[in-house]
Amino acid sequence: MSEEINNQDKVQAIDNNSVLNAFKQALGTQVLKVYVNSLEREVNFKEVSVVEQKTLSKTMIANEKRRDIIYDVQCSLINRLCLEEGFDIYRLTEFDRIRILMEIYQSNYFKNDITYKCPECGTVNKYHLDFDKIIAKLNDFDLSDRVYNLEDKYRHYNFTLNYPYVRNVSNFYKAYNKKYAHTTQKEQEVLDSMGNIEYVNLFIKQIEMVNKDDPSNRQVADLTMMSYNQIEQLISILPQNIIFSDENGVIKYITSEFIEKINKVFSYEKCAQCGAETTEGIGGIGDFF
Ligand SMILES: [Zn+2]
Repeated sequence: MSEEINNQDKVQAIDNNSVLNAFKQALGTQVLKVYVNSLEREVNFKEVSVVEQKTLSKTMIANEKRRDIIYDVQCSLINRLCLEEGFDIYRLTEFDRIRILMEIYQSNYFKNDITYKCPECGTVNKYHLDFDKIIAKLNDFDLSDRVYNLEDKYRHYNFTLNYPYVRNVSNFYKAYNKKYAHTTQKEQEVLDSMGNIEYVNLFIKQIEMVNKDDPSNRQVADLTMMSYNQIEQLISILPQNIIFSDENGVIKYITSEFIEKINKVFSYEKCAQCGAETTEGIGGIGDFF
């Protein structure tokens, strides 16, 4: 008798396995096509499963203050959902990453109500992100390299600028987090402002420096091939004015031409209480799970 039941269970188990497999196959056919700007073509992604979304939300909540972990979790979600062999988001640009994430969120009905605490008055506001609008705005971006020229008495400085590679941003967050460990609130504030500048450095692809009296005296650095520490060192030896000038320094140019532009894509309404602009930074888009 008991053997009979056992057999019945086995048959049932086999049946259910084939049901599961049928579901898997059927679900695997829904494909999201995303245009990836730096590859100049469409790439296929599969749907986010319940288990993937749960793992993602859990990790994000548990690591609220660890931007490095949140960043990598988002990147590995993109890699896991991609149906193309050899695809690696870390080799693409930050713009691609944001664009792909937005399309994945949109097509998977991710929660798009976010709460945001106003930095001016502390009021907690609730906003609704419109993914369609965000994607439409992203489609209007000019993604070609831009060359920004500066000069002082002695030299010409030509900066080639664009959105950074995901790999470099990930390394930046990891290094930044190491600095953050075991710091006081006050030290954190200082590190925060330094960190913002170091983040801006990531947008510099190349620096060319030419001597005015002797143009054959010319140095070129490819920052995309340099480590995070090397970039920091290189920037720190350049003339203060070229980098930091409030008027025309390269940091100011990158902030207004690249970072503020992408932040505006995510700008929400003004604070309901005090009317302050409540634009979140690039990393902030991870906050709305
Ligand atoms: Zn406010």
